[in-house]
Amino acid sequence: MNRRDFLKWSMNIGVLSLFQTIGLGCSSTGSKAVVVEYPDLPYTPDALAPYISERTVAFHYGKHHQSYVEKANRLIVGTPHQRQSLEEIIRSSAEAKETAIFNNAAQAFNHSFYWNSLSPDGGGKPQGKIKEALEESFGGYDHFAEAFLQTATSQFGSGWTWLIVEGDKLTIQNTSNADTPIAMGKRPLLTLDVWEHAYYLDYQNKRGDYVQAYLEHLVNWAFAEANLASVKKDL
Ligand code: MN
Repeated sequence: MNRRDFLKWSMNIGVLSLFQTIGLGCSSTGSKAVVVEYPDLPYTPDALAPYISERTVAFHYGKHHQSYVEKANRLIVGTPHQRQSLEEIIRSSAEAKETAIFNNAAQAFNHSFYWNSLSPDGGGKPQGKIKEALEESFGGYDHFAEAFLQTATSQFGSGWTWLIVEGDKLTIQNTSNADTPIAMGKRPLLTLDVWEHAYYLDYQNKRGDYVQAYLEHLVNWAFAEANLASVKKDL
């Protein structure tokens, strides 16, 4: 979505975004202060329908995600975190047990990663390197999909389901609440938000149907492939 469409959409749903408020589109202000970004959605808010409705995206991106970003920025003002990248803020606040900063910074990262893990053209079986990696790690796409569904539906309460690179294998892991593999130095390829706010308007209590829709229609394998390539480059 371009800036003008985004502004129009924000106003339609009554959202005043962070960068409208303070005039920032990027993470650097020119002094050394860094803010946690509230990035544009990579598609229009109705693009994921009918699997994730425009109404869900309006609340989830426009209210929940924005609120994590605003709180993270409010909490880091005047602290050494202001000069760190988002990943550094997450790791150092986890270490220092700064719970409020950690929760909001981690949720800012997790949500940006989530929107990129979805695509209107996504879903189904991947090709290329990811296909090979799923074969090596799970014995093929079908076993991967079964394990992902099982893991995502077994997360008790709020959290996230991740496809992660560990050593030379891919694994599926859950984190609770705001927790994120970034805090543990792990490299995620994809995520699925399994907090109720991510699916309740569209699926009510049927989390499994939401996970199936993600796998069949939304999962952004191109994003996973790009992440895998960047992990391999760093090895
Ligand atoms: Mn969420």
